[in-house]
Amino acid sequence: MPAKLLSFSLVQGLALNDVAIVKIDAVNPAGLDAHSEATLAGKVAVVNLPDFQAMPQTEGMHAYEQWQALVTKLATYKPALLLLIDRAHPAGNAGGSGRLVDPDNSKETTAAMLRITVHSPQAIQALDALGADGGAARVKINLAAPHERDVKLRNVIGLLRGSDPVLKNTYVMVTAHYDHLGVKGGAIYNGANDDGSGTVSVMEIAAALAGMKQRPARSIVFMTVFGEELGLLGSRYYGRHPVFPIKQTVADVNLEQVGRTDSSEGPQLNNASMTGFDFSDIGPVFQRAGKLTGIKVYKNEANSDFYFNKSDNQALADQGVPAHTLCVAYEYPDYHAPGDHWEKVDYANMAKVDRMVALGVLMIANDPVAPKWNAANANTTPYVEAMKKQAAQ
Ligand SMILES: [Zn+2]
Repeated sequence: MPAKLLSFSLVQGLALNDVAIVKIDAVNPAGLDAHSEATLAGKVAVVNLPDFQAMPQTEGMHAYEQWQALVTKLATYKPALLLLIDRAHPAGNAGGSGRLVDPDNSKETTAAMLRITVHSPQAIQALDALGADGGAARVKINLAAPHERDVKLRNVIGLLRGSDPVLKNTYVMVTAHYDHLGVKGGAIYNGANDDGSGTVSVMEIAAALAGMKQRPARSIVFMTVFGEELGLLGSRYYGRHPVFPIKQTVADVNLEQVGRTDSSEGPQLNNASMTGFDFSDIGPVFQRAGKLTGIKVYKNEANSDFYFNKSDNQALADQGVPAHTLCVAYEYPDYHAPGDHWEKVDYANMAKVDRMVALGVLMIANDPVAPKWNAANANTTPYVEAMKKQAAQ
């Protein structure tokens, strides 16, 4: 997947001369209520960036969703620039050499508001000294267009061709993301559980199913994708440029965090949860596979629906394919931290979970009736619509 590497979120140069500053209290959701296009258009909006990483995992994700909604609303007021104050990372966010931009994603490359993150304590001090509203300060900025270069990234795909003369032209997908956070602040983020565990599980399940004497009726696509942590880049690319027709793709089971059992909800032995559990009839299939292999497959009441759009299954669901993520632990120590190491994976439990997943995938691949979205669940409406659109093509 070719992508462009940019510094900042700028896709062009920026020149501002004698522009007013407006400070916005974004931590307080009502902070934006005092503003409108009349107060912000053409000005520099200064906002404190919340420290999402310092929050417990799910709380941080909820806060990030609220933050994104706020920034989306702010963009409609057309400020010339959004200046984000990052007090948590005085040495920068160690993102290093730039930022990946998906060239297909027009939302990101054209509609996004220009934004610059300020890390320098001295610069933050100067901004703080301006008082609550920004005072009479004026801004002058001249930035050249950022340096862009193309980079090539890859999704990795394997195919087990089905045996049925008709059903072999339909596909069941098993996916996981092979990227993690890379190197930040000198520390290597290995991501053994997120998502080394899913990646090796896809390979193990592929090897096991490819070794069977009788091939499954439908074809099975095993795919590991790039860039989940950067916003589902690889899976969204596949959604737009599928190798096998989406219309003939009957399901995707995405594997995330299937290795560690030391969940913050307590030990998770012999069980696995599926996101969007009652969004389609895939959950019950895996529940049956679990009964036969000693794994309880369940709906996590607090997390099942919330995490549905947090992983690569979302990119397939948006195309209409019934798609879910299966995990063992939603939250665990070392989530997105350098301590997510291989020694902490429970390999015996992961092997059992993988056997259950392999059987569930096989059940779908051998069933002449394809899985369906549960249209009675209002959450599925956009996916049901997308599926209809695919069918009509
Ligand atoms: Zn992940």
